[in-house]
This record gives sequence, C-alpha cells and structure tokens, in this order.
Amino acid sequence: PGSMRALHKDYRTVTPQNFSNYESMKQDFKLEIPEYFNFAKDVLDQWTNMEKAGKRPSNPAFWWINGNGGEVRWSFEELGSLSKKFANILTEACGLQRGDRVIVLLPRIPEWWLANIACLRTGTVLIPGTTQMTQKDILYRLQSSKAKCIITNEVLAPAVDAVASKCENLHSKLIVSQSPREGWENLKEMMKHASDNHTCVKTKHNEMMAIFFTSGTSGYPKMTGHTHSSFGLGLSINGRFWLDLTPLDVMWNTSDTGWAKSAWSSVYSPWIQGACVFVHYLPRFEPTSILQTLSKFPITVFCSAPTAYRMLVQNDKARNYKFKSLKHCVTAGEPINPEVTEQWRNRTGLDIYEGYGQTETVLICGNFKGMKIKPGSMGKPSPAFDVKILDVNGNVLPPGKEGDIGIRVQPNRPVGLFTHYIDNPTKTASTLRGSFYITGDRGYMDEDGYFWFVSRADDIILSSGYRIGPFEVESALIEHPAVAESAVVSSPDPIRGEVVKAFIVLNPDYKSHDKEQLKKEIQEHVKRNTAPYKYPRKVEFIQELPKTISGKIKRNELRKKEWETT
Ligand code: ATP
Ligand code: MG
Repeated sequence: PGSMRALHKDYRTVTPQNFSNYESMKQDFKLEIPEYFNFAKDVLDQWTNMEKAGKRPSNPAFWWINGNGGEVRWSFEELGSLSKKFANILTEACGLQRGDRVIVLLPRIPEWWLANIACLRTGTVLIPGTTQMTQKDILYRLQSSKAKCIITNEVLAPAVDAVASKCENLHSKLIVSQSPREGWENLKEMMKHASDNHTCVKTKHNEMMAIFFTSGTSGYPKMTGHTHSSFGLGLSINGRFWLDLTPLDVMWNTSDTGWAKSAWSSVYSPWIQGACVFVHYLPRFEPTSILQTLSKFPITVFCSAPTAYRMLVQNDKARNYKFKSLKHCVTAGEPINPEVTEQWRNRTGLDIYEGYGQTETVLICGNFKGMKIKPGSMGKPSPAFDVKILDVNGNVLPPGKEGDIGIRVQPNRPVGLFTHYIDNPTKTASTLRGSFYITGDRGYMDEDGYFWFVSRADDIILSSGYRIGPFEVESALIEHPAVAESAVVSSPDPIRGEVVKAFIVLNPDYKSHDKEQLKKEIQEHVKRNTAPYKYPRKVEFIQELPKTISGKIKRNELRKKEWETT
C-alpha cells in the first residue's frame, strides 16, 4: 500500500499537461520512496489492474514491428502473463536466485522486454549488453560481471560457447531461437509450457536492480549499479517532465538494447506513465526506415541520438514524409547542433527537446515541455537533482563561470544516481568532490538558470591560455554547406602547446572541390561565426568519424592519434 500511494500520488495526479511553470514544478515535486519497491509489481501490475477496470485507454502497452509485416501488440495484462512465465523459467530451468546476475544480449526483439520484467519479478540483476560484441567483449563482460546466466540468440551463442569454459560463475545459458542448441535451455520452447503463476519477490527499494555498461566513449565501458528505486522511481522524472507522456501516448526510442538509454526511454519512463512502448526491430540505423515508420504508425513521442537526427535532416527524402501523430521530439547522449534542431523544425514544425544525463543517472538537465527553449542549451536541472557548476575545490561557481557539472550528494545521495562502479572503488571515489558527484562534464549556467554543455572534461582544448570546447567549434563548422559532420580535438603545436584541429566529413557535393581552398573557406567561416581564437588551425578531411555503437563521436581516438604521430 505504501508504494501504491507513492505511485498514485507521484505518477498520475501530476500529468504532464499540468506542467506550465518550471519553478512550481520543482517546488511541487516530491518523490516518496517506499521501503519496498518493485517496478513489475508496483507499476506494471497496477497498470494491468487499471486496464482490467477499464481505466486505461485501449492503447497497447507494447507494440513491436519488424519492418517486414511482423507485428506484436501486448496489453499490460499480456505483458504480465508472459513475463511471469519467463520469471518461472529463470528460477526453475535456469536455477537462478534473487541477487544472481544475468547478462542479456539480444537485439530489439520482444523477448528483451520480457527478460527485463522477468528479472524484476525474480529479483535477479539484469546486465544488458549490445549484440555487436565480439567474443573477446563477451568474455570480458562475463568474467568482470560474474554473471550466472546469459540470455542471447543463435548469432551470439557460438561466441559464448567458445569462452564459457573460462567463466567459472556461468552456469546456465538460455537461447532465444526457433531451433534447439546443445547445452542451452530454449526459451521459446519452454514458454509454451511454463506457468504464468508467479509471485513477484519483495525487493527493498535500495536493493541492486541492474548493472549498465557506460557507452565507452572515453575508454573502456564502466559497470554502473542501479537500485530498484533508482530507475524504477527516478525515471518518472524523465517520463513526466521531459517526455511528456500519458497513457494515450506511443513512445518510440531508437537506442540499442545494450545501453542504459534503452532502460530510460524504452522501459521505465514510458511504462511509469502508462504509455505504449513502440519498437522497430532495426538491425542497423536506416534513415529511410525511420522516416517511414514515423509516418506510418501513430507515434506521438520520438527519441533518437543527435547523430540520428543529423542523418534524418540530411536525407533527401525527408521532405516526402508527413508525421501525422508526432507531437514531441527529444534527444540525449551528446549535444545536438543548433543547426540540426533548426532544420528539423523547418521540416516538421517540431522542436527537439534536448536532455542531458548519464548511465550513472536519470535525467540531469532537460528542456521540459512548456519551457522556453534556448537553442544549444541542455535546459534546466531535473527536479530530482541539485545540479551545480563547481571549481576544482568543490565550491559552487556563479552564473556565467565555466566549471565541472556536479550533483549534490550530501546530506543524502539522491534517488536516480547510481550506487557505485561495480568492483571499482577507486573509480567510484574519483567521482566525489566535497558534497558533490562530479559528472566528468564541463559546462556553465546562465543568468536564467539554463545549463550549457561545454565538453567532456577530457575533450577540452587548451590553446595559448584559452580553454576551448569542441562542440561550439563543431556547431559552427556544420553551418558551412560543405560540412556533413566534424570532430574537433587538440593537436600538438610547438608554440601554442595545443591547437584546434578539425576532422571534417564533407557533404557529397563538395568531395571533388579543391581541398586547400575549401579549408581556407571553412576556417574563415568559423572565424566569422564564433570567437576567432577557436577556429581550427589544422583541418583534415576524412571519410567518416570514429563512433561508438550508439553513434557518439570518439574524439579520444582521434586525439590519441594526433599526439602519437605528430
Ligand atoms: P563512457 O563513460 O564509457 O566514456 P559515455 O560517457 O558516453 O561513455 P553514457 O553514460 O552513455 O556514456 O553518456 C553520458 C555522457 O554523454 C555524458 O556524461 C555527456 O558527456 C554526454 N551527454 C549526454 N547527454 C548530453 C547532452 N544533452 N549534451 C551534451 N552531452 C551529453
Ligand atoms: Mg561517461
């Protein structure tokens, strides 16, 4: 009953439509944390009850398409029944107990969502991973996570089998496949006979729920621990204020199942709000399929990475599509260039509401529906966190001063912040400074309380005493018609120490132009459009930028090469 009250009070009475003023939202906001909390029982099963009582619109809870006519639509009740069967398989056939860790490597297939819920119901700790892993990646993850069970498909099963003997904790393997495989339990087969009679475990709010790998943009991915209340309750902030979701909405988030972003926007945030989770099984990012799906299905809220929006606005066919149902677009994961936001608005009439967060957190800052958007800004702090700009000693800096973006953790560590990096106390300790958690990102706050991202702390360029963030230079570069995208990093210079270097991918029409001429033109363009000291003294044209699987630019790779070879 405690959690029901929290649920009712905190999730449903303040509907996004009531939100009109940032200050009052912050003031009214209160997250009650019950002693026991389990998202499957306290949120999903409550929606099932609402559905049965006719108090929820007929919108499905889960809507999946494969792009070839295959389609799945489940109500909350069906989701409940199927995930209970799955939960019984985890405890019986796989022999798992509460607290055991389960690695799930599956593409965007319905079973991935069922696995998420089944882990909640059994109190097993979910560790999602991307399907683009190699044998070596799998071995590293199985060993470092000490997972007892792995769930994957026939594509990755051989890689798992090749390394399984080196993973002493691994004792069960579950395959999602039409055909049997030696040494593996077969999920599809067992689902036919499994009972859907299952009692959800009673989890403490601060019990470990899942472990997420960071994106690995700046190095090896880190394992980030989250409790049941962290995402299960904390992500209500995303769902309500940033995504603006209600039970009438259909939310499509395109991120890979391997990242926390998928838990954010394809599991917890929409379902907290009773909205429909829409999924398109897309093995690769194809702009045309995305445009088609957005125009064909009644998707109301769309979330994709900045790179994806960049590709969508650069697609010649974009103009041919009308998105009849779409009403709200969001992005996160990287800064989005104002130029891209403007082109998207020209095409769709919709703004892109940028959010800022990490695998370690729920939304840290966001442009909330109803708030004035300042192009290029990440918006204002989420009501979950006290966000400040700090100096090296952990003192709060005044508006206009650039520093480290931090979240207050004293006297209480807020809900929605990770517990620790698993098995890495040194790394965990390094994120604390005074009363704050240090995000590792640099930024500043303006006089109106809007936050502006400058750069990852590691990406800052120090040139002749100036501190330069790559993003501002990249945003000026993309305004030049020749530039499709770019990455700006530091490069060694005998006099200045470091100078700005731009790696540029050209638009197809410009590939045959004279490179020296183009370089000069682009440099002049940057000098005119941003403070001249930021212009790239070095320019290199390349075919493509190194990126993570989720499409983030790996500046550290380019930077490392610069400093090794020059
Ligand atoms: P790793 O920590 O392994 O290097 P990562 O930091 O990219 O990878 P994530 O947790 O997925 O892993 O990403 C969080 C980071 O993404 C933030 O710390 C920030 O640098 C960047 N980021 C997220 N949203 C935004 C945004 N709106 N604007 C600018 N940067 C953003
Ligand atoms: Mg990070």
